[in-house]
Amino acid sequence: MDQAVKERIEKLRKKINQYANQYYNEDNPSVSDYDYDLLMNELKQLEASHPELVTPDSPTQRVGGEASNLFEKVTHEVQMGSLQDVFDLDEIREFDERVKKVIEQPEYVVEAKIDGLSVSLEYVNGIFTRGSTRGDGFVGEDVTANLKTIHNIPLKLTRPIPFLEVRGEVYMPKKTFLKLVEQQELNDEVPFKNPRNAAAGSLRQKDPKIAAKRKLDIFIFNVQRIEGAALDTHSQSLDFLKELGFTVSPWYHTFSTIDEAVRDIEKIGERRDQFSFDIDGAVVKVNNLQEREQLGSTAKYPKWAVAFKYPPEEKESTLLDIEISVGRTGVLTPTAVFEPILLAGSSVSRAVLHNQDYITEKDIRIGDRIVIRKAGEIIPEVVRSVSHAPASVPYYIPKNCPSCGEQAVKLEGEAALRCINPFCPATLLKNMIHFASRDAMNIDGLGPAIIESLVDNHLMADEADLYYLRREDLLELERMGDKSVDNLLTSIERSKENDLALLIFALGIRNVGKKGAELLCEAFDTIDKVMNASCDEITAIDGIGQVMAQNITEYFSREKSRELIQRLREAGVNMTHESKLKGSLLSNLTFVITGTLNHFTRNEAKDIIERNGGKVSGSVSKKTSYLLAGEAGGSKLKKAADLGVPVLSETEFLEMINQTEE
Ligand code: NAD
Repeated sequence: MDQAVKERIEKLRKKINQYANQYYNEDNPSVSDYDYDLLMNELKQLEASHPELVTPDSPTQRVGGEASNLFEKVTHEVQMGSLQDVFDLDEIREFDERVKKVIEQPEYVVEAKIDGLSVSLEYVNGIFTRGSTRGDGFVGEDVTANLKTIHNIPLKLTRPIPFLEVRGEVYMPKKTFLKLVEQQELNDEVPFKNPRNAAAGSLRQKDPKIAAKRKLDIFIFNVQRIEGAALDTHSQSLDFLKELGFTVSPWYHTFSTIDEAVRDIEKIGERRDQFSFDIDGAVVKVNNLQEREQLGSTAKYPKWAVAFKYPPEEKESTLLDIEISVGRTGVLTPTAVFEPILLAGSSVSRAVLHNQDYITEKDIRIGDRIVIRKAGEIIPEVVRSVSHAPASVPYYIPKNCPSCGEQAVKLEGEAALRCINPFCPATLLKNMIHFASRDAMNIDGLGPAIIESLVDNHLMADEADLYYLRREDLLELERMGDKSVDNLLTSIERSKENDLALLIFALGIRNVGKKGAELLCEAFDTIDKVMNASCDEITAIDGIGQVMAQNITEYFSREKSRELIQRLREAGVNMTHESKLKGSLLSNLTFVITGTLNHFTRNEAKDIIERNGGKVSGSVSKKTSYLLAGEAGGSKLKKAADLGVPVLSETEFLEMINQTEE
């Protein structure tokens, strides 16, 4: 029996450590907080009944994650502990009983528990000097530069008190989070899972400019150390912090009985949906600071506070339909539409079903009784099917895009179906962002926000419309003044001169990257030649395979593509390619470059060799034709001598090129 317990404990520790690493260090959890808490609870209970099996490295004994090496480390003078979690209101009453064994008449403060990440801020003579993450409670990371970008962290306090260290919770407001995720999806980045991870991921960036863009916020909830002022109670410290210029806990009330405190916790729970930020619980704290000292702490938690975690609310309903919507990246998302229910304080009738794998695994069918959950995450999800309706059948997502009707595909490594039609109206925004991007048409000043506003204002329905934009229409757009309109029009005008290879890449033909577009244009140097090339002719190009060739011919066989090209042509967009291959004198020759070159960088030399039909390799072998050696060439010179590979000086190489370029 004990062996079985031991094994279970080990298994739980391994899992929890893995999840904690994903959560704290990678800011990318793979399970919900609720599921993580269940595992942790099971481990705590097993350890409580088998104290001989508790080890110092058990996750029950540790706080948070280790400080990474990305930042300077900060040792916390006052430990930044965690909080003991409870999941049942009776456990709050048990906490009260424990407190009353030491304190006769405790007064409590109840606060909303914001779901963000804990930081410490230090002020010397009223000036913000250093800020750090919690880390493992003892050592955190110095993230001062990033914290300075948070608008409500005062850099200077209203009073120059000699020393102050406060603790607060950095968070990302729900609205900011939803916007960020939308942007990340458009940029094909892996979106953050929830506001907490987004806040942690943003604060732990090496570049403070990124943190600044993420628009984080902070609530301060504790005085850690203070010199030059005396405080008796927690509520007094919060009032004092407000006076100093901090934004403090958004919801805090003081009570003289635990019953009142419990009622306040329930109130927060009823309203948790209405806050503009995520909360994952409520904290009950002893108000008197001296009494806190008397109560003390364990290695991990203070004994004067406890955190109540709201259970995710789950309710049953009947699944009426599954709607498929297509996102701006082309992903087809199934949404459950069910009879409205009241969940976590609001009426809900829709929930995410993620993808086909999720639906199949849970065997969710139309007509089912289903369970819906809202676990603090913003969007409710269908947890499981309770029962099927008579004569129901398994559900399969229709294979056609609901927006354009074309067949959607499952790309390698993705669970979702995606519409890949470059003309699908639903994905226009994403296609336009790609078209204007630096590697494609490189239109300076045409970022995602302006494109979005052009699309929303019906000024642009495809790429060609860009070249027909009128100054007066652009001036109507928000935040577009004379100067920015002029700059944008100049960039658009300039992009007309781009090489055909850039235009082909910008069109977003499936699988055709920059290199593929270059190769295609080397073989067919005008758009007409490209459009008229057969699949066999394209496949014959070295470096272009059958699939890419098919995608290219398929794209240009569409009526819409031809119309688009025609309108781009009429607008004056360049439709020809200027070959970068100037000669072939170096063809069949392989070069290796070593040492410091005077006339060009190594990359430039590589470019010249390739433009002349030669190849560049990283190491000297029998196959090497020449070693191009600049100053201080090392082991490669010796190897060339050993193998009898001729060595070219820079001057000799230049002569060779001059001959070629003649
Ligand atoms: P915690 O979240 O349970 O509580 C402690 C934290 O609450 C403090 O660090 C503090 O910063 C914060 N807090 C917010 N508002 C506060 C207030 N008003 N007063 C006091 N403190 C306040 O503990 P934790 O150690 O930070 O994190 C553990 C939690 O993280 C778990 O409950 C779990 O849900 C989650 N987690 C999830 C995963 C996962 O894979 N999903 C992995 C690890 C941890």
